[in-house]
Amino acid sequence: MKRRQFLTGAAATAGAVLSSVRAQAPREAVLRLGSQESRLPGANLKEKVANLAAWGGTGLEPHGNPWSRLAEIREALSGTEVKVSALCWGSHKGDLVSTDPDRRKKGIEDLRAALETAGELGAQGVIFVPCFHKESELPPAELDKILLDILPPLGEHAARCRTRVLLEPLNKGETFYLNRVEQAAEICRKVNSPGIALMADFYHMSREEADQAAAIVTGGPWLHHVHVATGKSRILPAQEEHSFVEGMRGLRKVGYQGWCSLECGIRKGTDPMVEIPKAFEHLREQWKLSAL
Ligand code: MG
Repeated sequence: MKRRQFLTGAAATAGAVLSSVRAQAPREAVLRLGSQESRLPGANLKEKVANLAAWGGTGLEPHGNPWSRLAEIREALSGTEVKVSALCWGSHKGDLVSTDPDRRKKGIEDLRAALETAGELGAQGVIFVPCFHKESELPPAELDKILLDILPPLGEHAARCRTRVLLEPLNKGETFYLNRVEQAAEICRKVNSPGIALMADFYHMSREEADQAAAIVTGGPWLHHVHVATGKSRILPAQEEHSFVEGMRGLRKVGYQGWCSLECGIRKGTDPMVEIPKAFEHLREQWKLSAL
């Protein structure tokens, strides 16, 4: 081997090692707080976003496919630090896993449209639940097959839109299918598309995961959104006893860069203008504890 070739080869090898180290070293995790649109107080979207921004929140999570509201959303966000975190889209009544081809086709078309909106808004993804209870009669193994059939083209479409489908595992009270983060991670791993990812929900995890930090680490390579609520009454953090520290430790381990978004009720008779900033402060304290 000529010396020049050798040097080039050595430099290339060192470069490859360095870049693989960089790829493996997780970035330091950040706590980005946000909320579903419907949780925020305000007479209109502009007021809701202004409240969120005043409390240090930076992620707005609208419901459904807000295509007809693009101008309203952009106007409300302009001049603030707030961005659209994700779209909370749901199951479309289980249509995407229906055995009726027309229902499935319509469900897929509507999810594709929601992905286009998410792309326009720069969102992390569109939250998708394959089915709630009573929305499918099929056994999980059959539902897995359907997802592995429909998700690859949806993932390609999502990636073209620069966003993702976010699979959301739910507790057994809401669905018999995809209850734990590792189950959604297994689907993501099999589909292997940059447009197919998952999210984690602290409320559901508190019911289904024996070790929340481990669940987050398992889902880490595909994790792009988190929902926040207490485990018992599914209300605002700090309104009842609930620790987020274990799950947050997992977020730190995977260098999580997405949002933690409120998806919760509020204790009856309490004022969201007072309670949401308290909840955010509580989450910031829990985040500090999770570093210890
Ligand atoms: Mg949720």
